[in-house]
Amino acid sequence: MTTTEPSPPEPHPGTSRSAARDGARTDWFSAIPFLAVHAAPLAALFVTVSLGDWILCGALYAVRMFFITAGYHRYFSHRSYRMSRPVQFLMALGGTTAAQKGPLWWAGHHRLHHRFSDTDRDVHSPRDGFWWSHVGWILSTRYKRTEPELVRDFASYPELRILDRFAWVTPWLVGIACVAVGGWGALLVGFLLSTVLLWHATFMVNSLAHVFGRRRFATTDTSRNSLLIALLTHGEGWHNNHHHLPASARQGFAWWEIDLSWYTLRLLAALHVVRDLKRPPARLLQHARVRDGAFDIGMFRAHWERAASVATRAGGRIGAVRALAATAGEPVDADGSGEVPTALPDATDPGRTLAGLITRALESADELATATRRLRSEGMGLPGT
Ligand SMILES: [Zn+2]
Ligand SMILES: [Zn+2]
Repeated sequence: MTTTEPSPPEPHPGTSRSAARDGARTDWFSAIPFLAVHAAPLAALFVTVSLGDWILCGALYAVRMFFITAGYHRYFSHRSYRMSRPVQFLMALGGTTAAQKGPLWWAGHHRLHHRFSDTDRDVHSPRDGFWWSHVGWILSTRYKRTEPELVRDFASYPELRILDRFAWVTPWLVGIACVAVGGWGALLVGFLLSTVLLWHATFMVNSLAHVFGRRRFATTDTSRNSLLIALLTHGEGWHNNHHHLPASARQGFAWWEIDLSWYTLRLLAALHVVRDLKRPPARLLQHARVRDGAFDIGMFRAHWERAASVATRAGGRIGAVRALAATAGEPVDADGSGEVPTALPDATDPGRTLAGLITRALESADELATATRRLRSEGMGLPGT
């Protein structure tokens, strides 16, 4: 393990590939077990599957989704509530059964996502393509390791470091227990199918929740609110709410925004298992509101950046055409200098002027977002994410 914070290369202006993705390769060797788990449930066609196996599938999905959303995400990534050290260990242990690596790996990369949402340094932005944001980044060689520097607060607990290191053990134990107690149907449908569904529902928050849905808050990223994703992920589909106030343990802000993990956390707080659940402050719920259908920078950020990139390239072509037109009918090397004009100066190039305007607008938006984020984190006591 390294102790230095990863520093992806600087953004590449004018390219559509981001720095977070640039040079990343798919680690097909590590992908084999991942693909095998996807294929394995098909074997259920050849064994007897009981109603109990389907109930087990639903139960393992629901319980492990809670550990991921309330544990890995709202607690380890965002510290949106508190718990005792033994309960913290159990929450992390439960999270490992979801086969999504360890709590330190998960939380560290998620904090990076919030720090650089939909910029060139975002770990999994859909502006790098649906496949990349959904699963490509996980299978890439670039983000395999846990970076303890990103989760110093939790990396200081030796038991969490051990869990993170041996996160693959509990999925195996659960799988073995399923086959030992319930037979092949319990393994293939109860455990493996629920694991695949759990994976893709979780991944959907990184991919689709930045593409489909409505926006309530003018965040600088492309996050959206989606009831469908919220129902599948115990409330994580209120992703625009979450990007607006990441330190809130509650993600469905309106009464009708169903947030199962929040209800469960309320119950656990009433039972004194967890405490100090952070709620969204009323004044911030009215801050940076977007009227439905209204323009806001985050929603169009990816399109603007692409437009800037296209404008820069188009600018070069326009310049080349003008230069050709200007030299038409003249000797190519009219002044005998040996130089052939190929483009007009940048200042007169409409493509580059447009690209410059877009880039400056995005930079201003970034400055505004940074200032807003700072104010908000002071108000909410965020751990710098
Ligand atoms: Zn996000
Ligand atoms: Zn988050």
